[in-house]
Amino acid sequence: MDDKRTLIRLDDETSEDEDPVVPISIPAKPIETFGENRSEEMPTTSSANGAAHISGNNQNLLADDLPSLLEHNGPPPPVNTINGSAGNARNHINDSEPIFHLRSRTAAASTPNYESLDYEVCENTLFQEEQRRRLRERFSLRKDVIRWIIFIQIGIITALIACTIDIIIEELSELKYNFLKESVADNVPLSDATGRDLVIPFLYWILLSILPVAFGAAMVTYIEPITAGSGIPQVKSYLNGVKIPRIVRIKTLAVKAIGVITSVVGGLAGGKEGPMIHAGAVVAAGISQGKSTTFVKDFRVFKAFRDDHEKRDFVLGGGAAGVSAAFGAPIGGMLFSLEEAASFWNQNLIWRTLVASIISVFTLNIVLSAYHGLNDFTFTGLFNLGKFDQPLKFDYFELPIFMILGVTGGLLGAAWNSLNTKINNFRKRFIPWKFAKVIEAVVVAMLGVTLACLMIYFINDCRPLGNDPTIHPVQLFCEDNEYNAVAALWFQTPEATVRSLFHDPPGSHKILTLAMFTVVYYVLSCATFGLNVSLGVFIPTALVGAAWGRLLAMVTFYLFPEAEFLHPGKYALIGAAANLGGVLRMTISLSVILMETTGIESSFFFPLIIALISAKWVGDYFNEGIYDTQIQVNHVPMLPWEPLPQYKGLTAKEILSSPVVCIKLRDSAHYIYKVLKKCDHNGFPVVDNVIGDRRSEGRVCGIILRSQLIVILLKSLYVENKRFWLPETSIQTFRDVYPRYPSIKSVRKLDDKINYTVDLAMFMNPSPVRVNPHDSVPRIFQIFRALGLRHLLVINNENRIAGIITRRDFIYK
Ligand code: ATP
Repeated sequence: MDDKRTLIRLDDETSEDEDPVVPISIPAKPIETFGENRSEEMPTTSSANGAAHISGNNQNLLADDLPSLLEHNGPPPPVNTINGSAGNARNHINDSEPIFHLRSRTAAASTPNYESLDYEVCENTLFQEEQRRRLRERFSLRKDVIRWIIFIQIGIITALIACTIDIIIEELSELKYNFLKESVADNVPLSDATGRDLVIPFLYWILLSILPVAFGAAMVTYIEPITAGSGIPQVKSYLNGVKIPRIVRIKTLAVKAIGVITSVVGGLAGGKEGPMIHAGAVVAAGISQGKSTTFVKDFRVFKAFRDDHEKRDFVLGGGAAGVSAAFGAPIGGMLFSLEEAASFWNQNLIWRTLVASIISVFTLNIVLSAYHGLNDFTFTGLFNLGKFDQPLKFDYFELPIFMILGVTGGLLGAAWNSLNTKINNFRKRFIPWKFAKVIEAVVVAMLGVTLACLMIYFINDCRPLGNDPTIHPVQLFCEDNEYNAVAALWFQTPEATVRSLFHDPPGSHKILTLAMFTVVYYVLSCATFGLNVSLGVFIPTALVGAAWGRLLAMVTFYLFPEAEFLHPGKYALIGAAANLGGVLRMTISLSVILMETTGIESSFFFPLIIALISAKWVGDYFNEGIYDTQIQVNHVPMLPWEPLPQYKGLTAKEILSSPVVCIKLRDSAHYIYKVLKKCDHNGFPVVDNVIGDRRSEGRVCGIILRSQLIVILLKSLYVENKRFWLPETSIQTFRDVYPRYPSIKSVRKLDDKINYTVDLAMFMNPSPVRVNPHDSVPRIFQIFRALGLRHLLVINNENRIAGIITRRDFIYK
């Protein structure tokens, strides 16, 4: 297991889940033999600074394994480089060796080998057959109905998980903070200026923080490191088409749920909303497949949905249901998924996602109402950030003030993102050991408690009782009939504190209290996001924003006492929006979530959106949103919405990879086996009209995936024994092994001397998307992204392969 702390685990799923070696049955009759001579493995060429590399993984191929690549008789193909370093590209092994295409693709060269998902449906003969059969069976209609049912199930189950997490967090936090308040009452002499002694409550507080945090961090670190953080960058990458190992497994869900409970109860500066997206995504991926690979249980339902393309849509629905359940905000949840997570959407998907979100909130309402003993199912706790009783009003002269708050949010957010990235880079370099990661989480938890205690100890902020909406106010160092306003901020979950800042009446805090709280929480949240614990960044960001928003209103009111429009709750809300916009860089969904969770009128949408957009624009000037920053830092090959500016003016021939490892339409099983063994590519053009073994000069007639080839070898789908397997082989044969395709190591080495033929006609995708070498890169990028492709074939006018392009070729840094 990789020990390095990364946002997304780098090791390959197949390698971990390696199946035992399965012998493949060898038919009696050999068809053609393969070259016996082995040459040296090709050395890798790299430029002096290591930035340039041989395209793809061809350097691993043995000369005799892939004769077409090496026996290149014509003149070497022109070397097209982006950085013009063609001179270093030659890789001399023997005279007939081709010159490999060399480009500076640092992302590909220096980063982990993330694989892509197959969002393009492989419409091969088997698939077409199934479609024809299903047309007769009116399957499409049934499939659509089932799809709706699955989305409804996703909504319900996600909400049930959210309720469980919610209730456990609520109960445990209540127990914890009540115990601490009692311990304060028992141990601290009231109103005693000389005997202010917080030591015993402090020790209890430390203990009650580090125990859950250590437990959660240990689970995340040792059991499932992919659950660290909010999960949103991972889900976003997945929805973009990047395969993130173990992201949607049941084990991941379990660790995530426990992780988020322990972190929030432990008092870390984080919230549950990000993990809820992830939880929803796992639920969706699990339900929609009708089987559990972890428990080796196939329920034999929903088989038609067992591919990446279908699963992607469900995962999006699950994510939306998760956010909706976390905030009690169905439309905000759906928009959050669309704005932040989704890379592909269409009208039907939006509908289904909305239904999953609404069902999720409805279920949440029923369960929480029942839990709180309400018969009319009107649990107000669904307004997570507290409902504003009075309609929030604003005057038009306030709009520039909201804009200034937005700019402040943008600046603070950009600074937060940059500081957080620096802290995480430091972590990556200097805290690589697992136990150290757990200790680090504990230290940050202790730091939080210590800073809170210091604030409580040194800031004397007593307020009259009755002014405070918190359920159990703490008297600590205050007179009778007073409560300690600093303790009130700290002795509850971050979500409850946001609620307080929005709704506490004017005069609930000193300026110093809020100023210190803002600084402390800003730094704490920055140090927390990136720890090996499951936590979201939404709530702490909103909390910091609410604190400084309220603070600004108080300071301005102090300076201009006649400015009665300065309602602190209103400015706390705008501050939260601005800070969220500055860190997350979302606008539409955030404003809707804030509206739904606080019950404000649509007329207040305008101020919110002004603050959010100003924050986003200012923040975007400096850096990217925190989720995109994390994705970048971890070198995930995410395709942006638009092609990168560097690609303007370039053509396909300048980014393609060649020579291309191809497979003949009827090729020997032995050759295929060797190719799969020696190179890591996941797609191979299928060619016919091949002269000798020069496959890369053949005419393109399709593309075949690595996973399909492995299944063909494992199941011995050879021409020679066709009569045995043909009647039983269907598209289901391939779906059965989805999503954990066996690796090539599962196939026992074929005897060198015997070869059998594989006819790829019925397995390959006969209509891969092809482009011309002279097509512009921005255009082919649009095609690649819009269709969710994994491989794009570049062909010349004679339909012969000129090169291949994958998502890595579009990542230019
Ligand atoms: P993905 O990683 O997106 O799932 P892949 O594994 O097929 O797809 P990579 O191995 O990541 O592709 O590709 C790495 C580099 O190799 C890219 O520059 C790509 O253009 C190139 N490449 C991909 N397939 C082939 C192939 N069959 N022959 C030669 N080069 C290839």
